[in-house]
Amino acid sequence: MPNSDQVYDTLIVGGGPAGLTAAIYLRRFTRSVALVDKGNSRLRLIPVSHNYPGFPEGVPGHVLLGNLTVQLERYGGTVMPGEILDLRIEDGLFVADYAAEDAEGDPTQLRAHTVLLATGVADAGLPIENWREAIAFGSLRLCPVCDGFDVMDKRIAVATADTNPVGHALFMRTYSSDVTLFERGSPSMLNDDERRRLDAAGVRLIESPLRSVTLDASMKPVLHTEDGEEYSADVFYPMLGEKARSNLALNLGARTAQCDELVVDDHQATSVPGLYAIGDVTVGLNQIAVATGGAARAATRIHNQLPPALRQGSTRPAQAGWTAA
Ligand SMILES: Cc1cc2nc3c(=O)[nH]c(=O)nc-3n(C[C@H](O)[C@H](O)[C@H](O)COP(=O)(O)OP(=O)(O)OC[C@H]3O[C@@H](n4cnc5c(N)ncnc54)[C@H](O)[C@@H]3O)c2cc1C
Repeated sequence: MPNSDQVYDTLIVGGGPAGLTAAIYLRRFTRSVALVDKGNSRLRLIPVSHNYPGFPEGVPGHVLLGNLTVQLERYGGTVMPGEILDLRIEDGLFVADYAAEDAEGDPTQLRAHTVLLATGVADAGLPIENWREAIAFGSLRLCPVCDGFDVMDKRIAVATADTNPVGHALFMRTYSSDVTLFERGSPSMLNDDERRRLDAAGVRLIESPLRSVTLDASMKPVLHTEDGEEYSADVFYPMLGEKARSNLALNLGARTAQCDELVVDDHQATSVPGLYAIGDVTVGLNQIAVATGGAARAATRIHNQLPPALRQGSTRPAQAGWTAA
């Protein structure tokens, strides 16, 4: 149960790799931390990540999440399941409304000197049947930087994106000579220069707009276009975009960029004093390594900016295994 009289050093909103890593750092800096998580980390969608350093055989997203949670518990930290509904500043402190998972009644108020947002992004709706199963199977993929290497020489289908519509298809040519780009609407969103670049790279362009995507008996994607044609592929990258979950910071007037991503400085500070942000919710590359790197930077900055945490009555270094803050 949260203690509503306590003023935490830091409230962390979001328990994906960014939030959990920051919490581990802050607990090891002996700081009091409340970490609230709604349980929708994108890490849960990753069947196996092969580009996160330190795991030569790859690591399933849920395993990484579990390991980080156990590591946090070693230092007396816990994840508080639920959602932060509102964040405001009162008398120089951050005050958050916390709705605990499965709890009824009014939200609890949590107070903190600093807040670290690690709320991630929401993927745009995927108009594909059984999309969770398709992601788990590896026939539907959302992140060319993450897993392009893993689809070497496969038949790759990509849909045009709103910004830089041909960029992802050209990127995938590094991995396969069989890349097809599907237009998503009519009239075409491609200009002459983009068509020339596709042609030069040997990317096939299907101009009739994509109508729907189904899965065949072996879970491979079949792309249906407006003209009634069907195209089989081994993998499909829909590239429909995502939206940063930054509304708590927006309400405080924090500066944002495209897709509501938060703008932060070199220490992950937003434009609102005391409010920091890390991971996918910020401007930059959406990767686990970037999320954990930002967490290290933000946590260290927060610790150094808060009043010193002076250890009493012992000259020995701090030990793990304290009770929860
Ligand atoms: C299919 C797929 C495959 C991927 N593969 C890779 C890969 O191989 N390598 C790689 O580096 N990256 C990969 N990624 C990207 C990676 O998952 C993200 O970069 C990473 O999860 C970002 O971490 P995060 O902590 O910022 O956000 P998330 O992991 O999304 O966590 C955010 C958390 O905040 C919670 N939250 C949001 N709002 C609130 C609120 N108001 N109150 C409480 N909690 C809240 C959410 O429920 C969620 O649990 C992949 C992504 C997908 C979708």
